[in-house]
Amino acid sequence: MGLAENLQDIQERIRNSAARAGRDPGTITLIAVSKTHPPDAVAEAARLGLTVFGESKVQEAKAKIPLCPGRIRWHMLGHLQSNKCRDAITLFEMVQSVDILELAEELNKKADQASRTLPILLEVNIVGEASKFGYKPEKLLADLNAINNLRRLEIHGLMTIPPWTPVPEKVRPVFAKLRALKEECEQLLGAPLPHLSMGMSGDFEVAIEEGSTMVRIGTALFGERPKAV
Ligand SMILES: *Cc1c(COP(=O)(O)O)cnc(C)c1O
Repeated sequence: MGLAENLQDIQERIRNSAARAGRDPGTITLIAVSKTHPPDAVAEAARLGLTVFGESKVQEAKAKIPLCPGRIRWHMLGHLQSNKCRDAITLFEMVQSVDILELAEELNKKADQASRTLPILLEVNIVGEASKFGYKPEKLLADLNAINNLRRLEIHGLMTIPPWTPVPEKVRPVFAKLRALKEECEQLLGAPLPHLSMGMSGDFEVAIEEGSTMVRIGTALFGERPKAV
């Protein structure tokens, strides 16, 4: 199937999952994850109406973004090192992968130098997988106020990457835990957090049923990525 058919299929599945959960599908943003795919593929997806794209490496994004249609909004999804924060501020509308206080502080500093405010999501490692980045829930709650006090950052919500499984139903508890943790954060902050970024190609329908507002989809849209070298 081509990109247009893939997109139609995904949009229909988003609508159906939203309907099952009694949610308005308009509250769910499809983020096209274009990592490893060329600017041509991004341009084609943009022509089909997609406006928000995700990348996971600053270096790749830095080379690709200037070759893509200018109206696209880019989200950083991957692990971010302190020495890439300045570039990240220039390239991305939002950083979804803030996973440690020092990174938040560095992003705040670079955002201040650029005189901008940066929307962020806090990445949580719900299951505690050693192979994944992300805050442990208790550490997140401990750091939340310090991050909230950084003037140039706006906390918009939480993001998670669940363990891989061929059976999406198995990760439903992970998504439910992220939603519960968001509610705990809202209580601590005394303010609502609009976003839960959860759900990828293999599990986005379950994620939507559990309250996702941003699904990050690569493979189901663009096809398989070349194996990492
Ligand atoms: C690669 C990636 C995705 C997309 O994964 P697919 O399974 O290809 O849809 C989503 N989120 C993050 C953080 C990623 O790195």
